[in-house]
Amino acid sequence: MSQRVRKKDDMNQRRRSYKRRRRRYALQVLWIIVSLVATAGLIIGYRLSTDRSKNNNSQIANAADYPADSDNNVSATLTPTIVAVVTPTQVVEPTIEATVTPIVTITPMVTPTTTIAPTLAPTSSPQEDNEEDKANSKKMIALTFDDGPYPPVTEKIVKTLAEYDAKATFFVVGDRVEQYKSTLELVYEGGNQIASHTYSHKDLTKLSIKEMEHEIQYANECINKIVPVGETYLRPPYGRKNDLMIENVGVPMIFWSLDTMDWSSRDADTIYKDIMDTVKDGDILIMHDLYPSTAKAMELAIPKLIEEGYQLVTVKELFEAKGIDIVDGKVYYNGR
Ligand code: ZN
Repeated sequence: MSQRVRKKDDMNQRRRSYKRRRRRYALQVLWIIVSLVATAGLIIGYRLSTDRSKNNNSQIANAADYPADSDNNVSATLTPTIVAVVTPTQVVEPTIEATVTPIVTITPMVTPTTTIAPTLAPTSSPQEDNEEDKANSKKMIALTFDDGPYPPVTEKIVKTLAEYDAKATFFVVGDRVEQYKSTLELVYEGGNQIASHTYSHKDLTKLSIKEMEHEIQYANECINKIVPVGETYLRPPYGRKNDLMIENVGVPMIFWSLDTMDWSSRDADTIYKDIMDTVKDGDILIMHDLYPSTAKAMELAIPKLIEEGYQLVTVKELFEAKGIDIVDGKVYYNGR
């Protein structure tokens, strides 16, 4: 081999080894890059997997509250979990609103009480009282009750009268007063007038003068044994009268101008409506303290009559206030 050829071979060899070294170097760089990428990939992969496992744990914890979903996959549990957690919170709010609502609905229940206030207000307002007094100067009526005493009804009426500082007249039956002594006393103590409805509720037009006198006088005795009222006015039973009576009874006979027919309707609202529709100044109203409906009607009528400017007085007071002469044996229908 010539020197030249050897030199050429040498150069080729060196060039080849240089190329080999470069290739090896490039491979090494590539390897480093690949390893770096791989490491980075591993780290990211690891972190991702840790995060996911954390999420899984929390979702499982939530799912534990909803056992029905606990066996399903995560995404499946996630959705109901969020919905379920949010839903109760939303449900709580309406519950609170609902609790508030009844309080608001109570207000109308309070309103009637408030509506009573204005009703009472005019009565207690001095200015309006004066105006009312001028407009209805001495506008008054007499409530009268026959056939008692009968404790459950009479005492209720007496109580209602007292509540409104009103007075009435009770035409009692003589043969009942001993039995219901304390009731008669209550009537008397309330400042009401006690009068006679005879001793045994007989039709006086069918009696002899002697029998008639007995019915009137004995009733008076029985009443005065319990309460000191003296001579009493008379209301003849069944509203019947004749000349013999006029000549012989010896006391004023009190009839009426407004018949409530309470014994017939036995309905508080009907009685109340009849009174309010027809009442006028000077009226004498007839009722019977035997029926609970009458007592109930009085609870309605008494405050309303007062509100309308009526003074509720006894028959005696009505006659005195209206300047009516009270004559024995005379028949009176009203205080006009
Ligand atoms: Zn009667």
